[in-house]
Amino acid sequence: MDKNWTLNERGRRAAQELLPQLPVKIFDIHAHIYRTQDLKAAGDSLWAEGPKEVPIREWRAGWEEVVGGERLAGGLFFPVPMLAADLRSQNDYIVSQLEKEPSSRGLIIVTPDDNLQQIAAYLEHPQIAGFKVYHIYSNEKPTWGSSIRGFCPEWVWQEADRRGMVIMLHMVKDRAIADPDNVREIRDMCTQYPHAKLILAHAARCFHAPNAKGISALRGLENVYFDSSAVCEPEALKVILQQFGPRKLMWGSDYPVSQIRGKSVTVGDGFVWLEPGFGKWDQTAHLGRPILAGIESLRALLTAAADVGLNEQDLEHIFYCNAARLLRLEPEPRNATQELYAHAKKRIPGGVQLLSKRPENMAPGKWPAYFREARGCEVWDMDGVRYYDMSTTRRILPAWISRPRCDPGRRPQSEYGKHVLSEPAGGSRVGRYAVRASPLGRSSPFH
Ligand SMILES: [Zn+2]
Repeated sequence: MDKNWTLNERGRRAAQELLPQLPVKIFDIHAHIYRTQDLKAAGDSLWAEGPKEVPIREWRAGWEEVVGGERLAGGLFFPVPMLAADLRSQNDYIVSQLEKEPSSRGLIIVTPDDNLQQIAAYLEHPQIAGFKVYHIYSNEKPTWGSSIRGFCPEWVWQEADRRGMVIMLHMVKDRAIADPDNVREIRDMCTQYPHAKLILAHAARCFHAPNAKGISALRGLENVYFDSSAVCEPEALKVILQQFGPRKLMWGSDYPVSQIRGKSVTVGDGFVWLEPGFGKWDQTAHLGRPILAGIESLRALLTAAADVGLNEQDLEHIFYCNAARLLRLEPEPRNATQELYAHAKKRIPGGVQLLSKRPENMAPGKWPAYFREARGCEVWDMDGVRYYDMSTTRRILPAWISRPRCDPGRRPQSEYGKHVLSEPAGGSRVGRYAVRASPLGRSSPFH
């Protein structure tokens, strides 16, 4: 059986099947680069099996084989947390690599034993976007049961808040995001430090898919994001999409974990990695043999996206735009809602379907004429500004705006509903589209 790090024919075929769904531009929000001399890893391991140096160039070569090089726009790179590793050298290596890759960004690794003075110079680097923290450095033992503050000290939150930086968090405790203490800490810190941007790695560490039930407890936090890295089952990714929508989830490879030949799967009350040494594949497997985990994870993400009914634009956000926005890679459009309304007024009398929904009836030039997402009573306009919908007495409203975005056969109408205080953007992209696609369109004045 082939080893880690190599893309074999089975893996190549699996990847080929995914390519038609992939956007043309992708950014990897979770990837590690390193030199083994800095890791000081002992014994057989993924790290020892691979190259002695794994720069961004190596990441690119590995993923180029899977998705094609022209797609890879860049990545967010950070060190490998290991107890014996030289973290200072690792941080220096990240900076030296970033300087060769202007479209990428990096995180520095910090521990509770560090202080701001020691690492402040890194934060001035224009390509350093924040902090990587990890439980093995916690003073709470065993560290698998550590609180978040045990390995992510408050000065990290303060500095991330002050600079609008990222904290990459791989939380621990057996139940991960289903653990009420983890939820409480995340809610407290994200509320206290609203400009810090928290990425919950590995789908809020939902390698055990049923733990994803805890994700809904984070609803309402605008500075929480998720990456898909190394999660090989779609269930938790679907929960994120249902609870937080497509603007909060990002594709991450967890390179070089993506180069492991295997798959993480939910079993009993935990999870296991099905790797070549796990069982007697020749005797027990029907055709199935492990392929690279990065391909399994990509397949799970695309499956979740299809199941939830995401469209091409949503996938562009998951694979690139969300990271670009989070890391400020590109200037953000600021007036998309009003610009779309101005455009629509040239195509649709009054700009919207019903006179009563015209923004001029409310606050001309300010009212969110169109929304792009709605969950529960929360509505987001085209610029990503969130509103609480409390302005109508129509009893139909709650039913419509909480309707799941999951009916690809009836898009765009069935995702959002029409009879709410603002118009869904899909419909606004012109009457012809709204009428054709809409079950309500049959009764619309444009039909
Ligand atoms: Zn990682």
